[in-house]
Amino acid sequence: MSTLFEKIINREIPADIVYEDDFSLAFKDINPQAPVHILIIPKKPIEKLSDAQSDDKELLGHLMLVAGKIASELNLDNTFRIVINNGAGAGQSVFHLHLHMMSGRPLSWPPG
Ligand code: AMP
Repeated sequence: MSTLFEKIINREIPADIVYEDDFSLAFKDINPQAPVHILIIPKKPIEKLSDAQSDDKELLGHLMLVAGKIASELNLDNTFRIVINNGAGAGQSVFHLHLHMMSGRPLSWPPG
C-alpha cells in the first residue's frame, strides 16, 4: 500500500509543490509549524532515515543540496532548520523519509 507521500509523488493527491527533480520532490507542509515549512522527500520510498543503506548515500546528500537550493530560491537568508523525525517515538507520522525545512521565525534550541 502506498504512503501519503507516494500518492503526492504520483499526483494522486494534491500538494503545493515548490521543487521537483528526478530524485526528489518538495512541497509545503499542510500543517506548517513556521512561516516557511517545506517537506523534502526522495522519490525512492525509504521508510525512515535509519532504513537508508550505503547505496542511498548520494540520494541523502542530494536531499541536503535540494534544501540549500530551495533556501536560495526562497531568499531564506541562509536561515533555516532541517529536522528529520525518525520513528514514531521521535514524532514521525508519515513513513516515507522526509526532511522538514523550517524558516521565517526565530527557532529556539533545543527543539521539543
Ligand atoms: P512527521 O510527523 O515527521 O512524519 O511529518 C509528517 C508531516 O507531513 C507533518 O508535518 C504533516 O503536517 C505533513 N503532512 C501530512 N499530510 C500532508 C499533506 N497531505 N500535504 C502536506 N503535508 C502533509
